Amino acid sequence: MECYHCGSVRVNKSGKTRNGKQRYKCRECGRTLRENPQRHTYDEARKEEILRAYHERSSLRGLTRIFGVSRQTVTSWLKKSL
Ligand SMILES: [Zn+2]
Repeated sequence: MECYHCGSVRVNKSGKTRNGKQRYKCRECGRTLRENPQRHTYDEARKEEILRAYHERSSLRGLTRIFGVSRQTVTSWLKKSL
């Protein structure tokens, strides 16, 4: 397993996603990793994860940095979820 954000191999297991997939956390850049990532589409579990983080942290800028999603993407989800 290699971090697809920074290329590091120092990756720890970090629980499971809601749909039962193994989740990892990179020890170098601290970002969350998933197996078989889909770079350009967001499944419902990831979307929920991001939206939940948004409600906890209330920082759109932080989310775009952590999850690598665009502000526009998150904003459009927020509008739909209201
Ligand atoms: Zn990394």
